[in-house]
Amino acid sequence: MRDLSRAMENLDRNKDQLRQSPILSFPDFLQQVIEHPNRIIRNVYQVYSDLIDSLVDDGIDEYDNDPESIRFLKYDCTRLFVEGSDRPFFADRLFANRLMRHVDSFKLGSKQNKIYIFDGPHGSGKSTFLNNLLRSFENYANSPEGSRYEVIWRLKHDHLVGGVHSLNSLTDKLAWVLENDGKTELATEMKCACKSDTDLGGYFDVPCPSHDNPLLLIPKEVRRKFFDDLFEDDVFKWQLFTEKKYEWLFHEEPCTICVSLYQALLQKFRDPQKVMECVCARPYVFNRRLGEGVSVFNPGDRPLRNPIMHNPIIQRSLDSVLADGKHVSYLYSRYAKINNGIYALMDVKSHNTERLMELHNIISDGVHKVEDIEEKVNSLLFALMNPEDKTLLADLRAFSDRVEYINIPYVLDLQTEVDIYRENFGKHIDESFLPRVLHNFARVIIATRLRTKSEAMEEWIGEPEKYAMYCDTNLQLLKMEIFTGYIPKWLAEEDVAQFTAKRRHKIVAESESDGWKGLSGRDSIKLFNEFYSTYAREDKLIDMAMLGKFFRKYCKQDRDILPMGFLDSLLRMYNYTVLQEVKESLYFYNEEQISRDIINYMFAVNFDVGTTEICGFTGERLDITEAFFHRMETRLQIDPKMSVSFRNSVQKSYTTTALPQEMLRDGLPITKTSLYIHLYEKCTHNLKEKVLEPFLKNENFRRAVKDYNQEDFKTYDKKIQNDVHFMMENLQHKYLYSRQGAKEICIYVIDNNLARQFSGLVE
Ligand SMILES: [Zn+2]
Repeated sequence: MRDLSRAMENLDRNKDQLRQSPILSFPDFLQQVIEHPNRIIRNVYQVYSDLIDSLVDDGIDEYDNDPESIRFLKYDCTRLFVEGSDRPFFADRLFANRLMRHVDSFKLGSKQNKIYIFDGPHGSGKSTFLNNLLRSFENYANSPEGSRYEVIWRLKHDHLVGGVHSLNSLTDKLAWVLENDGKTELATEMKCACKSDTDLGGYFDVPCPSHDNPLLLIPKEVRRKFFDDLFEDDVFKWQLFTEKKYEWLFHEEPCTICVSLYQALLQKFRDPQKVMECVCARPYVFNRRLGEGVSVFNPGDRPLRNPIMHNPIIQRSLDSVLADGKHVSYLYSRYAKINNGIYALMDVKSHNTERLMELHNIISDGVHKVEDIEEKVNSLLFALMNPEDKTLLADLRAFSDRVEYINIPYVLDLQTEVDIYRENFGKHIDESFLPRVLHNFARVIIATRLRTKSEAMEEWIGEPEKYAMYCDTNLQLLKMEIFTGYIPKWLAEEDVAQFTAKRRHKIVAESESDGWKGLSGRDSIKLFNEFYSTYAREDKLIDMAMLGKFFRKYCKQDRDILPMGFLDSLLRMYNYTVLQEVKESLYFYNEEQISRDIINYMFAVNFDVGTTEICGFTGERLDITEAFFHRMETRLQIDPKMSVSFRNSVQKSYTTTALPQEMLRDGLPITKTSLYIHLYEKCTHNLKEKVLEPFLKNENFRRAVKDYNQEDFKTYDKKIQNDVHFMMENLQHKYLYSRQGAKEICIYVIDNNLARQFSGLVE
């Protein structure tokens, strides 16, 4: 038999996680308040906004210095919606910004009294969103940094009266008999079974079903003075007395049960301090499954047959203690259990429609009745809704100031869409694609979700045709970039200048109407699965041709899913972009070479043709010949007839300004002299225009690209080998191509003759 003790010890270790629920006396509780005032003095709205603050870092503005920025920020919601979740939710940039504005409204702390309805089409992930939000809330509210206290009354049994007391003494007697009879175990078992939560050796506890903050038990009229004396004159005290978010502490009353119990005990003891001795505090423990603090209803959940809750044991104990005084009815509704917590409706349909109506009436009136008793509901109220259910709620519209809609449409930000594929299929999917192709898959999916016409975009870009080479005529591709927080480099200067804050607001506001049609989150995952399993191969990366083929076939089945010509535009944008990458990769190499060549030239003009010198700056050995000068002068586009006078002027400038003044006197490096800068600009300007010439005119260069990584590559001339090698390296380092991908993309550029296609456009 295997010894189990070690394995079982693990369970003991878990003991620490048992939710300790220490009950504090009121003075001990006040000590806690003094030590952690920010934590303990919070209502549910503050806890909610603190939760978001603690799990979502400040947003990032990629264009921080842009004076027209509208603070449309990148938020990382991973800790809120993804980490620790079985079914994560991905908030796109638009929704994340919307959510943050919604939370901002709580920070100010005005009284909410609203139902927040998250409104989105089928398959937009609404319920995943809400489940993750509630999970995070529950975790946070039960953690040390998120926890608060609630009232629990601890009352002494009146030994002269019957009721629970007599029942207890009966069990005690029975246990005593058993014990004397030698049946100790049975006796202990018996005592344990009879000892309820509410009976603690002469005392019994009465929890406040509404989870009131114990501070509310301090009579309203003395609260200001009380807190003034409780806290020292520090920053917190100043905030407490001035900030709107703390107003509730001075205005709110405890629940009816607490109020009437307080009154009854005051009548009995005739001493407020003695009453407060009965008030204790314990952590407010949230438990969605038990409906404590968080309650979630599905449309199919039937209403309770009896919506009023009792606790006969507590009631009997109360009756016994207050026998000669006022009667306190210990009854409450389900709403009490979520007071200071969250009440959520998953979909407004069937029974949830009635619940929403009821909620609406409650917040309109501020209270609701449980038999004769008034119960208040200060909770966060959330509901999810599908667009088609909105029509059922014509009544609700009349009270629209009590309802706030927050749109949660399909994902419109391609970065997030790609993250969803990675989450569902694994991060390794990237390795099967040429760079950008995976994102282009997401672009097609998002295009099905966007409205074709966009007023804001049309108003901004008068003639979309001018961008025909890298954007569709409906400007959907441009809009997608903006939704992702990116301002494309291909935009003309005048359009960037016209991209004012006002325009940005309008475009982002328009996003509220996008994402209500097209392929849902579920559809896109299904489609991606089909695409990926068809085309992912070991020996060939997924390219744009495969993407085009796949979606053209799909469009044949559903002709209206994409606007006409979208796939062609997407391909053009892709071609333009990869050509830029290839160009930059080739040019980047030249930059260093150009710099060295210019320095050598500046140095060489000081010597006669036919000599050999070591350049004092680059350390290179220079054979100063006509051909040497000529190479640089062609690059600078100097007319050969003018070459001698040009050389003389360079030498003059070098010996009068660059060397004696800028370098020797001012200590500048040669690359900072005005002569160098002038030559460099002249040279690069001409070169940028010609950088693609090897792709256009040099057959050897093109063949060398195809032979790269193969034995034949070594047969090409050294200069070509160097250029090709450098270009391949840059593609890998700067644009994250794999070795194979870098070669594939260069061959793609050659085979499709992209350099020719875009030759008119090269800047
Ligand atoms: Zn209460």
